[in-house]
Amino acid sequence: MCQFCHEHGDGKKWYLQAQNYSAELLNDLERRRFIEGFLEKYGNWEGAKVEKDFQKAFQGPAWLRKFFYYFQERRQRRDHFGQVVPLEDLAQVLDLTTSVVRIPCICRKINKGRTDAEYCLGLGLDAEKILGLEEAFLKTFNRGPDDAHFDRLTKEEALDLLGNFEKQGLIHTIWTFKTPFIGGLCNCDRADCLAMLSYRYDFRAFFRGEYVAAVAADACTGCRECHSLCQFGAIGFSVMDQKTFIDPLRCYGCGICRSACEMQAISLAPRNEHPLASKLW
Ligand code: SF4
Ligand code: SF4
Repeated sequence: MCQFCHEHGDGKKWYLQAQNYSAELLNDLERRRFIEGFLEKYGNWEGAKVEKDFQKAFQGPAWLRKFFYYFQERRQRRDHFGQVVPLEDLAQVLDLTTSVVRIPCICRKINKGRTDAEYCLGLGLDAEKILGLEEAFLKTFNRGPDDAHFDRLTKEEALDLLGNFEKQGLIHTIWTFKTPFIGGLCNCDRADCLAMLSYRYDFRAFFRGEYVAAVAADACTGCRECHSLCQFGAIGFSVMDQKTFIDPLRCYGCGICRSACEMQAISLAPRNEHPLASKLW
């Protein structure tokens, strides 16, 4: 179990606790101001500058980087932190939220200048709940969070969309806005997502998933269809056995490699029961 499961889930998966999606949390004034400030602040960021800052930190002395990352990560965990979540758990997440709206991705706006890249889902952030934040959305994306602009999705529509993203190789992550409130469900890859960019520079902005994947060697045909889907470089291949294997120390438990496997040779098992990966978050 990750830190948030202990702190915000009573030792169970924190993202499957209804209270972490509650309107009471969203209506907290400080949190609403944070969301508003978040959109305005990050909406003005430029991808190239963010990368340059990371490069600067990465090239500096190791002790300074550790010091800087320590405080940044602590702040991040308090304000806006994520976790990788596989599709089957997201089906349960969608049962807990009062609404799902499809919204543009702020990372893709920062990195690619796109305000129409609708890869994210707002949880509980529909028109009625987000009153007062219209201006911030308009400034960032040139469009408002009303039903005319942001599509409200049923659970089935959201699951279909997430399944499609998965086939394209996007991993699913959920995000807090002032932890523990969970307001975002993103679909990320290493090319466009800022959190994945920070991972490249050894800065953690999200937890690994609560699972670890493994390949059943007797079912694997060695077709390698799953290889291109892993965003974390966790999939390897034994030339001698002509079988795929997964490195549990690199696996983030996103589960998307399963969507490429016609043999259903890949499965997820609880991370906390894994002898090597149980303490890796
Ligand atoms: S090996 Fe692990 S991290 Fe890579 S795609 Fe599969 S589940 Fe995700
Ligand atoms: S897609 Fe399935 S059968 Fe093909 S290499 Fe990967 S695990 Fe093996």
